[in-house]
Amino acid sequence: MKKNCSSYIITIDGPAGAGKSTIAKALSKKLGFIYIDTGAMYRALTLKVLMEGVDPKDHEDVGKVSKSSEMKIDYDEDGMNIFLDGENVKSKIRAQEVTENPSAVSAVEAVRNKMMSIQRRTAKKFKTTVFEGRDMGSVVFPGADLKIYLDAGVEERARRRWKELKAKGQSAEKSKVIRSIEKRDKYDRSRKVAPLTVPQDAVIIDTTGKSILEVTEEIISLVNK
Ligand code: C5P
Repeated sequence: MKKNCSSYIITIDGPAGAGKSTIAKALSKKLGFIYIDTGAMYRALTLKVLMEGVDPKDHEDVGKVSKSSEMKIDYDEDGMNIFLDGENVKSKIRAQEVTENPSAVSAVEAVRNKMMSIQRRTAKKFKTTVFEGRDMGSVVFPGADLKIYLDAGVEERARRRWKELKAKGQSAEKSKVIRSIEKRDKYDRSRKVAPLTVPQDAVIIDTTGKSILEVTEEIISLVNK
């Protein structure tokens, strides 16, 4: 990265539980970049779809909910806030029911187009950014300055999710967490629009057995190249 560069986009893609959010947050903090969790955007819309009693698999109805929704991203000392029709839904979007459904909602083309335009506007606004998601390097920012694809074995990813749930006081069987992760990944990888894939020119990092610091330092060394 050139000194005093005015804009720089890092994309971090990968399957559920690969460590994307943790790494993207640590990285943006170290670099002084803005962190954008694009999964939160799909979760926010999923929350509305569920609240309105719409079937997440009904593309037409989901498209209508998306069209009539107003989404905004904002920041405070605790990080990114996501507003849906004026309400901060940051906490609500982490509910288990929401976690089970964004794959169907995010397969809708009208939804993806809307999210893409918000994401591109956000990149222009904040200039130096870390975008985390599933299609950041492949579709939304194909010209990103640095593209990372984080991966880890399914057992490791499920173990991390299970630990997160336990920390929140939610009990879950490990085998169920594995099944839920596998189902979500399969859906995300096989959808027609913007499927989860390794973007061209991405650096693949397997985070299995690596610490947050190790992975963050590895990415920073790529930024400084
Ligand atoms: O990252 P997170 O688990 O919060 O993402 C929730 C879901 O949102 C993913 O399983 C995926 O279906 C969808 N998503 C997406 N594209 C992104 C980010 C998330 O389709 N860029």
